[in-house]
Amino acid sequence: PEVRELLLSRIKDVPDYPKPGVTFKDITPLLADPKAFAALTDALVELAVRYGATKIVGLEARGFILAAPVAVQAGLGFVPMRKAGKLPGATLGQAYDLEYGTAEIEVHAEDLAIGDRVMVIDDVLATGGTAEASLSLIRRAGAEVAGVAVLMELSFLPGRARLEPALGGAPLDAL
Ligand code: 5GP
Repeated sequence: PEVRELLLSRIKDVPDYPKPGVTFKDITPLLADPKAFAALTDALVELAVRYGATKIVGLEARGFILAAPVAVQAGLGFVPMRKAGKLPGATLGQAYDLEYGTAEIEVHAEDLAIGDRVMVIDDVLATGGTAEASLSLIRRAGAEVAGVAVLMELSFLPGRARLEPALGGAPLDAL
């Protein structure tokens, strides 16, 4: 509970960003506070252990920042899932719907394998589209979904419901 309060106190609501009517959750104050960033990392490592994860996936771009220290602290490999066209090697790609249009994320095919139990980390779960695409990439690589952990879930959006079928019983935790 104290950790939750600390994390909440370091997230800034930015009205009308990136467009009018949207309130953006800015996590840069949390990243700039070493106590808060460490508390977040510790909480995510605890989840990685609970999930029995053997690999950590971070979603571009803020997911990278949160996931990398978790991977190091948990002694697990870090795998980036990036926007299409950014990874140099052979990739698997998954398109998903945005409010207007579509986006695509990719992962290096050789970074995920049969037998891996993968934890996905991102900062915010909004509509769930990005996380859903990440789960599909993990499964297509032959790996298993250990769980999804986010700093924040925007519970006024149906992200959790959208993700539920793709989770296949794996946990979704919002800190
Ligand atoms: P979704 O695919 O769930 O709609 O959107 C989630 C993705 O968009 C995440 O990768 C997250 O970083 C980004 N995102 C959406 N809304 C916000 C927000 O208010 N604050 C931050 N920091 N990221 C957001």
